[in-house]
Parts: sequence; structure tokens; C-alpha cells
Amino acid sequence: MANVQVNTRSKLALLGGGKSVESNPKDVFSWPIITREHEEAVLEVLRARSMSGLDVTKKFEMAYAKKLGMEYGLGCNNGTAALHCAYFGLGIGYGDEVIGPSMTYWATLLPVYSLGATVVFADVDPNTLCINPNDIEHRITKRTKAIVVVHWGGMPADMDNILSIAQKHNLKVIEDFSHAHGALYKGKEVGTFGDVSVASLMSAKSFAVGEAGIMFTNVQYVYERALLFGHYERHNDIQSEELKKFQGLPCGGYKYRMHQLSSAFGLVTLKLYDKQMSDIDNAMNYFCDLIEEIPGITPVRPPKGSNTTKGGWFAWNALYDSEKFEGLTLQKFAEAVEAEGSICWAGGSSPLHLHPVFQTMDIYNHGRPTRIANSDNNSDYLKQGDGSLPVTESLKNIVLRGPWFRRYYPEIIKEHAKAYEKVASNYKDLLPYDDVVTFSGGYSSSFRKQSK
Ligand SMILES: *Cc1c(COP(=O)(O)O)cnc(C)c1O
Repeated sequence: MANVQVNTRSKLALLGGGKSVESNPKDVFSWPIITREHEEAVLEVLRARSMSGLDVTKKFEMAYAKKLGMEYGLGCNNGTAALHCAYFGLGIGYGDEVIGPSMTYWATLLPVYSLGATVVFADVDPNTLCINPNDIEHRITKRTKAIVVVHWGGMPADMDNILSIAQKHNLKVIEDFSHAHGALYKGKEVGTFGDVSVASLMSAKSFAVGEAGIMFTNVQYVYERALLFGHYERHNDIQSEELKKFQGLPCGGYKYRMHQLSSAFGLVTLKLYDKQMSDIDNAMNYFCDLIEEIPGITPVRPPKGSNTTKGGWFAWNALYDSEKFEGLTLQKFAEAVEAEGSICWAGGSSPLHLHPVFQTMDIYNHGRPTRIANSDNNSDYLKQGDGSLPVTESLKNIVLRGPWFRRYYPEIIKEHAKAYEKVASNYKDLLPYDDVVTFSGGYSSSFRKQSK
């Protein structure tokens, strides 16, 4: 292994110095973790020529639901489909409003459009990056049916306060835990709080089985409506007399069956997940402990001793305080960290509410924007333009996303922390170059360019 002693007072790699990260990363970022057992399980489905069957998928759903202590699990071909099923399952429809965060992946909210409903965005809490319960209540109207919560970046949202608002106003709660598999909120696993919960299981997520998603609920009627919607081949499982009469064809015209190769892979991951997660948790907590020593960079993590955890830690987010660096932009800071051989990009995610799909686009030819197509004339509150969600809009200059370690290799992790430390202690050298934004790393760079 290379020498990990990096002199943090040395010339930045961006300005021609040596890099902080020099060791071979080995499999510290390899994801998902694929074992011989996974390979065997997938081959078994292949050899049985049962890629479209249901038995393995049903086993996977049951095993995952059991792990969470939930009654029903429904595997889907992706998380977007599982969210669509969840909204239909809850009866979200024409003219309804769903309150959710603008700082999320689009699939959290966009499926409600195709049900005739619309979205009302609430701001996020800058400490958790999750929906802020203090910004929800004043947005509730007679049309509001549900609140959707995203445990953003693996960080559990403030469920106590969200659930009490929902109860007071008789609203449903949907949890999108696509970033937070295995995370605990005050000792209880996320995905168990809402009327419905949904997780993507796509390859990049913290529980990764390929392209897949899953929905959980304890309410039989909600589960059966979800079956009715996108799972016609399972309509025989429907017990409700009211729903039975629609058996045979998928209400809505969707087919959302999960692929059995993914289900087989997932069954093995379920067995190994606690161990994988605890490795990741050790690695990420170690990295956070090192980064916390740097003034101006605050990792987003649950308070110690709160029995709240980030589970598989989808992504590592931290808050960047440019005042501690004489106004150096996060973009330039990130560029310098990347040049050191670590991972760092600015923004994390671009706010959804400012995108034309949520502003002006008339998707279904209503003659007015889809966002307000099924609302009253008096729907000015749905015009959430520039400046309407100040915290969410400020985050592109504050939130940085860095390395997400899948193995606990302290020596490698230390080098990455050194990269951050080195840039932080030599930031003055970057100030003369700060007007030149040349950063091009990270998958969010196209977003960033669009939002300029
Ligand atoms: C990935 C993701 C989804 C959608 O899942 P897919 O499997 O990609 O369809 C939904 N919500 C969040 C927060 C996500 O990160």
C-alpha cells in the first residue's frame, strides 16, 4: 500500500502538486457486492427458464416484508413503478394534492400526474436534507390527500412530527426509502412508518438487486388496489369483493412485474445485508469522524446516541460553509478535491419545482400546465417559482456529495479524508482561480449546467 502520510500543507493537485489518494481502491467502491451464492441463485432461475415467473418474486417479497415486520410486500420492475402502485393503492386521483420535497429524484412525485393529481412542494430542513415538518401544515388544502417523505441520502426524516401532522389532518403518509434501506429512526426501521412505503432496488441504491422496486403496506385494501393497478397476473390474490369485479385487466393499463433474476439476487442480499450494512456504517462513520475535524465541512449524519442510523448510507452528503473559506465556491472546492483523487461534487440534486415539467408543461393537452390542470382557478399556490423554496434552492451551493465506501478499509478511507483536509487547509491557493468554473466530474454535472 502506498504511503498514506500526505503532507496537508503541500501543493494542491489541481495546481500541479501530488495527489492525496494514491492507493489502489480495491473493491471499496464495488457495488453491489456479488457473491458465489448470488451467482448460483441467479443461475438457478435461468436454468429453470423462469425469468417471468412469480414464485421467487413472492418469496423475496415475503422475506423482505418479514424483515421489516410489514404485512404485504409487492415487487415491481423498478422503484418508479412501485411508487405509481403506492399512489394508486392509496386512492390518489383526480384533483388531489400530494405534499413532498423538491429535493428528491423525480420518481418520488411525478407518477401522481398520470393519476390526475398534482404536487405541492415543501421546503427541506437544511440539517437533515429531508422534508421540513414546519413547512408542511400551511400548505394543506381541502385537496391534500398525502404527504410523501424521502429519507434523503439515507438520513431518516423527522417522522414523529410528520406523522402527527398527517394524523391531525387525516392525510396518508408515503415513505420513499430508496436511499435508506436498513436505516433506523429512533430504533425503528424506515419503511415501517407510512401507510405505504416504497424503495427502489436499482443497482446504485443502498439495497441493490438490479432494476427493481418494492412497495410495503399493512393495509390489505391498499395492497390489493396496487395489484389491480399493475399486476394483472396476480388478480386471483384479490379478496375484496369491491375490487374483484375488475379482475383480469390492469386498471390503468400498466404492467409492473418484477424480474425473477432480480428477486433471486435480492433473496441472497437480504441474508447478507445486515453484515454489509454494518461494514458500510463503520466505514462511513469513520470517514465522518475524520471530516468533522475540518472547520467548514459538516457531514449530514444522525446525532450520536439517538439510535437513528443511515443504514446502507446511500451517498455521503455534507454541508459546505464557504465563509470558512473566504467565500471560495463549493464548485471550486469540489474540483480541487476531485483532483486529489477523491470524490466530491456540488449540489447533489437540482430542485424539481423549477423544472418546466412542474411549471409550464402541458403533458396531456389540457390547454394549461399539467401542474394545475385539475385544480381550481384559484391555484396560485401551485406556481412555486424561483425563490419559493429558499432552503432547497440554496443547497446547490452548500451540499456536497463525496465518497460512499462499501467496505471498511481504514487506510483507504483516511486518504480520502486527507484529500478534503488538504484542500481545506490550502484553500487560499484556490481563491485566485475561483471565477474559472471548470469542474466537470460527477453525474450531476449536466444538471448543474442546466440550472446555471
Ligand atoms: C431511485 C429513486 C427512485 C426511483 O427508483 P427507480 O428504481 O430508479 O425507478 C425513487 N425515489 C428515489 C428517492 C430514488 O432515489
